[in-house]
Amino acid sequence: MKAIRRFTVRTVLPEALSALDALAANLRWSWHQPTRDLFEEVAPEIWARIAGDPVALLGAVSPARLDELARDQEFVGRANALRDDLATYTSEPRWYQTLSDAPRHIAYFSAEFGIAAALPQYSGGLGILAGDHLKSASDLGLPLTGIGLFYRAGYFKQSISADGWQQEAYPVLDPDGLPLTLTRHPDGAPALVSLALPHGRTLHAHVWQVAVGRVTLLLLDTDIPDNEESLRGVTDRLYGGGGEHRLLQELLLGVGGVRALRLWTEITGRPQAEVFHANEGHAGFQGLERISTLIHDGLSFGEALQVVRAGTVFTTHTPVPAGIDRFDRGLIEQYFSGDLLPGVDVWEVLALGGENYPGGSPDVFNMAVMGLRLGQHANGVSVLHGEVSRGMFNGLWPGFDASDVPITSVTNGVHAPTWTDPLLLELAERRLGTSDTTAADWGSGAVSDAELWTVRNAMRANLVADARRRVTAAWREENPGATPPAWFDELLDPDVLTIGFARRVPTYKRLTLMLEDEDRLASLLTHKKRPIQLVIAGKSHPADDEGKRLIQKLVRFTQDPDLRRRIVFLPNYDIAMAQVLYPGTDIWLNNPLRPLEACGTSGMKAALNGSLNLSILDGWWNEYYDGEDGWAIPSADAAGDAEERDTLEAESMYDLIENQIAPRFYRRDAKGVPGRWLKSVRHTLATLSPELSADRMVREYVNRLYTPAAVAARSISASDFAGGRELAAWKGVVSAGWEGVSVVHVESGGLAAVPQVGDRLHVRAQVQLGSLSPDDVAVEVVYGTSREGDDLVGTATVELAPLDDDTSAATTGPIALDGSRTFAGTVTLSRPGSFGYNVRVVPKNEYLADPAEMGLVAVAH
Ligand SMILES: *Cc1c(COP(=O)(O)O)cnc(C)c1O
Repeated sequence: MKAIRRFTVRTVLPEALSALDALAANLRWSWHQPTRDLFEEVAPEIWARIAGDPVALLGAVSPARLDELARDQEFVGRANALRDDLATYTSEPRWYQTLSDAPRHIAYFSAEFGIAAALPQYSGGLGILAGDHLKSASDLGLPLTGIGLFYRAGYFKQSISADGWQQEAYPVLDPDGLPLTLTRHPDGAPALVSLALPHGRTLHAHVWQVAVGRVTLLLLDTDIPDNEESLRGVTDRLYGGGGEHRLLQELLLGVGGVRALRLWTEITGRPQAEVFHANEGHAGFQGLERISTLIHDGLSFGEALQVVRAGTVFTTHTPVPAGIDRFDRGLIEQYFSGDLLPGVDVWEVLALGGENYPGGSPDVFNMAVMGLRLGQHANGVSVLHGEVSRGMFNGLWPGFDASDVPITSVTNGVHAPTWTDPLLLELAERRLGTSDTTAADWGSGAVSDAELWTVRNAMRANLVADARRRVTAAWREENPGATPPAWFDELLDPDVLTIGFARRVPTYKRLTLMLEDEDRLASLLTHKKRPIQLVIAGKSHPADDEGKRLIQKLVRFTQDPDLRRRIVFLPNYDIAMAQVLYPGTDIWLNNPLRPLEACGTSGMKAALNGSLNLSILDGWWNEYYDGEDGWAIPSADAAGDAEERDTLEAESMYDLIENQIAPRFYRRDAKGVPGRWLKSVRHTLATLSPELSADRMVREYVNRLYTPAAVAARSISASDFAGGRELAAWKGVVSAGWEGVSVVHVESGGLAAVPQVGDRLHVRAQVQLGSLSPDDVAVEVVYGTSREGDDLVGTATVELAPLDDDTSAATTGPIALDGSRTFAGTVTLSRPGSFGYNVRVVPKNEYLADPAEMGLVAVAH
């Protein structure tokens, strides 16, 4: 019989071991090696079995063992010292405390958070990134609070049937067995968040707190008795349902999340959040809840929108329109027509998510579009993805070139202490005198090649052992009571060149590209002198049968008796597997269809461990591949069709492995050390680690997005939101009057017959402003390199001044008979080569963050 409820009965810890409780309650253990070592010592066998989860460990360890430890002075002393160290870590000033103008409190919203295998609240890269963001925010001292949902069954647990088909199971998590604390009012009553739904129903949620170092993560949970039965399941699974179920989750995350944050700040006395960061479109409704509050405080919708935009950062993660979260417009109308958001008109909501641009659909509500309209600060997640996003969303800023679209990029990073193997960390500490592997001098002779190679070999051996253990355990689960096949003990070889490939399985990631030429792959796997082996893992979304077919095709290939020792698919890819997998590979393979990988982070995690990348030039690799840190698979973008492209790219991949990678890996000196290979490993560790670390990413967010957002939010909110009111009124006037704005005539002079670098080009533009004043606009020369098709690239701008404007009163400038005004200025020619320019008029206001922001422009023709 199945249990309908589960809970964990904990052993009471002896008083002397109370430090263990404190250490288990803060997820810093997920990246703090000394704390992990301490817990492992409590019961090494249990620790290995439960994938390093201290709370589960303390639930499983025997009272006798605890008594023994309580009498061990050395152990107790170390536990207490680590507890003190945690207290220092969570309170001492860090990098953030040296900044000025930075936000007093940042709210970070995400639909998933991947922090530790023990808290499976993630499906893939987006969640792991959010988890790493929180961890680096903690290390750097950011006053940041994460907001998400507590999914009772997480994503899903994957197993693979004998014929290779993915099976999903949804084991239910027990919050009592996890490092979670319920948020309560001072009187002990649980804090309750409520949302008014159509037909008089109400959705309630409790708020769990997770301590992630010095950061708190708030997770909303609807599985509580206050809810009617059908609503208890709103937070059942991550990305489990479509349509209405998904909408309810996102309403809870956005609207409920802001309410939960407000309750929590009141209870704890923290400062109000100044900056709201929406990690992907799922959390977009957070902006609407904040608008509703401001309307309650006396602002109009338009005024509140300006205030909310100023303090909002929106990060987009998908380069494919099909990947964007969309809802049926009718459903949104139904949910926002009631009492959900007091003061907010449903038509205003619908307008924010409307795809009213060429190619858009009138029937859908687009969460990314709303995200961009609610956020004055927006970014993609790699340089290339920023570029792709500017093109993809160009329709929201009509009249502007894609390069002018106000979406910047911050390249993702990964949390080094989480993703660096303990063996490599130990080497850095022992030989290079630092526990920060991203700052270590990996080129130094203090670490010999032989020593580095020993560590690389040990990490590969760990992966081999882990793979055998996993395959055996999975087999036992499918075949209870039977003896596993003997060849499992020969699965993979600790000395063979190991290539890793693991990720979610959407089609664009091309899980099965390696099978394009099965004979060729087989010959690489079984090469007499220079064999390779492949370790593969990945989950397909439960509703994606195409992805499951890819997994099946691959699993069937791995079952070939001649190949099965050299290629394996490991079921249930998760953080615990990933932490052993990346360090154990020599090569990390990534072969997405360019440019569909927004950034990709698994290759970064591999690189932090000295694994070399073999990847299509997409996402992060497009900006960091330098010829020494790995290999680039050329994209066959120009191929006739998809099949031809796959064939060409697969061939390049096989060629690189056979002719470059394997020879370098197997070229050894007398002692068996591959010197040339290790040169690349050192180069990767030294140059990539600092760049790929989430600390670099979080600093960039602080400097380039959070601080400007906080400054903008303060300025627009000052004096009872005077700036917000002014900006809303001004935007109304400018939008209404914009059709009267045009560039009538442009003339230039001042250049010799053959212009030279350093010459000055004088430009005069006659501009019609209609009802607007010169103060409302910037008249700009946009200049750059002029290529075929007349498109300017590498552009810069110079603002022209109203002519004869020698006083501060711009309105006294000369006005022509037709009402137009003259603006003039000069451009210095600073570069040789083809030069082109144009003149444009854009709105100008101190509260605008970007000239393209309003999507209004008049260009000379
Ligand atoms: C890093 C990671 C991912 C994401 O990898 P990408 O290369 O960004 O797709 C997914 N799952 C797990 C368990 C990871 O650790």
